[in-house]
Amino acid sequence: MTPLYGMTMNELKGVAAVAGLPTYAARQLADWLYKKKITTIAEMSNIAQSKRELLASQYGVGLTPPLKKIISSDGTSKYLFPISSTKSVETVFIPADDRTTLCVSSQIGCKLNCAFCMTGKQGFAGNLTASEILNQVRSVEETDRISNIVFMGMGEPLDNIEELFKVLEIMTSEYGYGWSPKRITVSTAGIIKGLRRFLDESLCNLAISLHSPYPDERQSLMPIEKANPIKDIIQIVRQYDFSHQRRVSFEYIMFENKNDSAQHARDLAKMLTGISCRVNLIGFHQIPNVPLKKCSFHQMEIFRNILNTKGITCTIRASRGEDIAAACGMLSTVQSVN
Ligand code: SF4
Repeated sequence: MTPLYGMTMNELKGVAAVAGLPTYAARQLADWLYKKKITTIAEMSNIAQSKRELLASQYGVGLTPPLKKIISSDGTSKYLFPISSTKSVETVFIPADDRTTLCVSSQIGCKLNCAFCMTGKQGFAGNLTASEILNQVRSVEETDRISNIVFMGMGEPLDNIEELFKVLEIMTSEYGYGWSPKRITVSTAGIIKGLRRFLDESLCNLAISLHSPYPDERQSLMPIEKANPIKDIIQIVRQYDFSHQRRVSFEYIMFENKNDSAQHARDLAKMLTGISCRVNLIGFHQIPNVPLKKCSFHQMEIFRNILNTKGITCTIRASRGEDIAAACGMLSTVQSVN
């Protein structure tokens, strides 16, 4: 059954046309799906019964409940969503005092194989559809409490850009959820082609995984550096204005005796000079068979202070959900699919 949930207005117009419904029925379908939050086509009461039956013969709403939810001692929840009988993805809900964030997955696994990431270790098993991405937003228990969405779960969102754009359209359009793009952050390891399109066509916030100011070292952590050098990415970012509508942040996971020196901080500041941005320092979460080590909080403070002194806004991001393997770099469904 093809899911209606996750379809854009254009796609819904196509559905209406094939079903012999007037064009305005696409708007009615969107209302039922995104505003009235129905779960069956039978509930679409302003569409003729015969047309609802016709639609139901080809389509379903397409919502899928999670298979599992586990809760961290810090209140973070991790969900497991089935994608097929053998594939699944994880989604993390992170409550905090001033906001609640849903961290969504965009792919099953990931191709990019960053050295510090469990998702990368599990390999790539496919892109999620817009319906499967949005289902994570709609089907967590906390759906009505979500204030922000970050694409920092499993996968590289710019490697699944068509489906990503459909999700962003539905989340921010008046016919969909009508969110401000400021409430959504797309995180990327840095795919140049996708990045340009994202910056040209979306007003959502951008987060770029940086992790080292030095190309060789960055490449040892993130193989994508070879084909998508960070210097080129920074050059592209410099061409856009981040002082008003949207923000750009740089994510920097800190590893002991690897990328945590004062010289790293000074060179990072030099690299980012003149960009209106924020640097988020993130503690490394140990994963099996990876020789990288977490650096001390004290060293993170020193690093942060150097950046702040150089005029770069820098914060240390609190680690959330480590005890349930929901923290940064820990998502994996390898055990779940075996
Ligand atoms: S950090 Fe992101 S881009 Fe890198 S392997 Fe993990 S999911 Fe993929």
